[in-house]
Amino acid sequence: MKNTEIFEESMLYMPGGVNSPVRAFGDIGINPPIIKSGKGSIIRDEDDKEYVDFVLAWGPLILGHCDDDVVEAIKNTAMSSLAFGAPTNLELEMSKFLCNNLENVDMVRMVNSGTEATMSAVKLARGYTKRDKIVKFAGCYHGHFDGFLVEAGSGVLTHGIPGSQGVPEDSIKNTLIGIYNDEEQIKELFSIYGSEIAAVIIEPVAGNMGAIKAEDNFMNTLRSLCDEYGSLLIFDEVMTGFRVDFNGAQSLFKVKPDLITYAKIIGGGLPCGAYGGKREVMEQLAPLGPVYQAGTMSGNPIVMSAGLATLNKLKSNLCYYNHINNIGNQLEEGLYSIAKEKGIPIVINRYGGMMTIFFTDNESVSRYEDVKKCDKDIFKKYFIHMIKHGIYLPPSQFESLFLSVKHSEKDIDRFLEAFKLL
Ligand SMILES: *Cc1c(COP(=O)(O)O)cnc(C)c1O
Repeated sequence: MKNTEIFEESMLYMPGGVNSPVRAFGDIGINPPIIKSGKGSIIRDEDDKEYVDFVLAWGPLILGHCDDDVVEAIKNTAMSSLAFGAPTNLELEMSKFLCNNLENVDMVRMVNSGTEATMSAVKLARGYTKRDKIVKFAGCYHGHFDGFLVEAGSGVLTHGIPGSQGVPEDSIKNTLIGIYNDEEQIKELFSIYGSEIAAVIIEPVAGNMGAIKAEDNFMNTLRSLCDEYGSLLIFDEVMTGFRVDFNGAQSLFKVKPDLITYAKIIGGGLPCGAYGGKREVMEQLAPLGPVYQAGTMSGNPIVMSAGLATLNKLKSNLCYYNHINNIGNQLEEGLYSIAKEKGIPIVINRYGGMMTIFFTDNESVSRYEDVKKCDKDIFKKYFIHMIKHGIYLPPSQFESLFLSVKHSEKDIDRFLEAFKLL
């Protein structure tokens, strides 16, 4: 079967033909290609068309598709260990790796997705502080947990408005909405609710409204407000962990988070998540403490081995991050120069291997409001043009594209050649 046939039949059996909404290209208005295989930086669809992939499974595949060492590790583990629901040495290896290599992680709990990691971290923070309210920022995405599915309404100091049907009012009444990079607003929020706030959760480099870094002063303010009011600061590094740098986005800031969530890269392409942080907080988790969180598949041997193969390879090849920065620069500079020639106003935000091209007249993009002003029609035209020319990108202005170790200068040239023809 070919792309169109498979997608049309998929729509009969899966809502929208997909298992996760963005895959349907809903905002773009074309059918998504059906992907059959991937190797290195290249993926191939059921029509046998090739693309240079800048989505990389939405971030995890920093080593590219089907990296030999990762595949080998999966095969080896699969020969003897699919699942036990019992402690394994692989879990110890993974936990030790994370605690020994990451700053501010004394202990970890493995889970199966980013959503699970963030919702569990928030529960732990609530259990630890014995408070209910959390602050999340408009434009940040932390997975599909009810309490996070809130958009900023106009009354940002009031309780949230559901961003999805099926989320009871009660599940979000304790979610306060902050404005990313707005110090005054967060101070105001704390001055009203401070003593009730269990935690502030933030993407230190946001990726889910396009790539935007938190400003240093803003982050310092978050830390001092959390200290003053006894709230925990949670970094959601599901996307940024091992991506913007080996030590993740936290390496870009002086402030220390109390808890950190991970997923994506740490699973090496398999379903995985983790949350960790201060020992004294983590020890509140069952079986040691009163906060209950569990998982039949958590710490699964195959997933641990894929993750460990990825992380160990990154650690012994820190030069990979230089390569990613070099091709990132090449892409960034090339795009700016072509866009200037063509008179297309753009702003590029790039942090290591994640970046977004914003189609906007603005000088910079540092807030959610700036992203909302971007030209969606040009984005759409650009996206459709690029995919036609074999460049596979995230289908939304509100996403980041990703670079891998396997992307070559030639891959970047292909991107730039295609962009020239826009
Ligand atoms: C992808 C992502 C999540 C959700 O992870 P899933 O594995 O899709 O549940 C949470 N937070 C951030 C920052 C993400 O990028």
